[in-house]
Amino acid sequence: MEGFDIAGIAQALPHHEDSQHIGEWIAAGKNGSMGFLERSLEKRGDITSLVEGAKSVIVAGLRYYSNAPSAGTDNYFVSRYARVKDYHQVIEEKLNRVQKIIKKEVPDALSRAFCDAGPVAEKVWAIRAGLGWRGKHSLVINKDIGSFFFLGEIVTTAELLYDNASARDRCGDCNLCVEACPTGAICGDRTIDARRCIAYLTIEHDGSIPEEFRGKTERIIYGCDRCQEVCPWNKKAVPYTDKELIPDFPVTSLTRKDWLSLTPDEFKKIFRSSPVKRTGFEKIRRNIDFVDHRSPDDR
Ligand code: SF4
Ligand code: SF4
Repeated sequence: MEGFDIAGIAQALPHHEDSQHIGEWIAAGKNGSMGFLERSLEKRGDITSLVEGAKSVIVAGLRYYSNAPSAGTDNYFVSRYARVKDYHQVIEEKLNRVQKIIKKEVPDALSRAFCDAGPVAEKVWAIRAGLGWRGKHSLVINKDIGSFFFLGEIVTTAELLYDNASARDRCGDCNLCVEACPTGAICGDRTIDARRCIAYLTIEHDGSIPEEFRGKTERIIYGCDRCQEVCPWNKKAVPYTDKELIPDFPVTSLTRKDWLSLTPDEFKKIFRSSPVKRTGFEKIRRNIDFVDHRSPDDR
């Protein structure tokens, strides 16, 4: 479907348990400082409130795995999803094309597209649409392509054929992701404690990274793929082929020296179409200092 690797359709129905689960996770403080998740909590439990008369939720996935080697063995680590073009833009363009097709086929249909924005509980809708199951690391795993994929959704009033079968849980006795997580961020209920997750600490968290994580973030300066890297279902992961994901600038070509000498202007230019720009220059410098055991005064 329009360049997506996987797609499914679920019936648009309220699922108030979604907002309840997210509410419980927030109440436990596991969202860290991501207060925006508290907003529109009720809407997360009723997808029909996003489009009046919604009948269907189309969920699509796009592979982003890449095994391009990093420049130098002593280099810093940047999560794979940030080595491609900012997925929001790529997914939104693809979803817009799908919306045009819906409009052509069902002219009076109303629809809205979402990608990591708006009150859509993406992972549960992906599971309802049959794309996969929620792994112990909390991400959705597809039995054919693993978990290195982006998600996008269209909520529409068009009545479509639903993929009713939710994929069965194939984690079994495996516990590799839990054992591999350097900071013990994976909870036993298929959620993550964001306050302990390196992806959160290096991207969302403001201020200093807590000392208890010193030495545990390895050489990671943006995101973290450790739990996905060890997952047996990602042994089948093949590098992405979608040309729209090709970055303007290959992050993996930056050497350790390049990272250390990066100026704010260079950062802006290099990462203008990359998700890394969202974190900003100062946080990246903070993360580099943290893994190098350096104080900003020692730069
Ligand atoms: S992304 Fe990293 S820190 Fe976060 S749960 Fe996975 S392994 Fe742990
Ligand atoms: S590593 Fe094992 S337990 Fe974790 S998500 Fe993958 S299959 Fe499930």
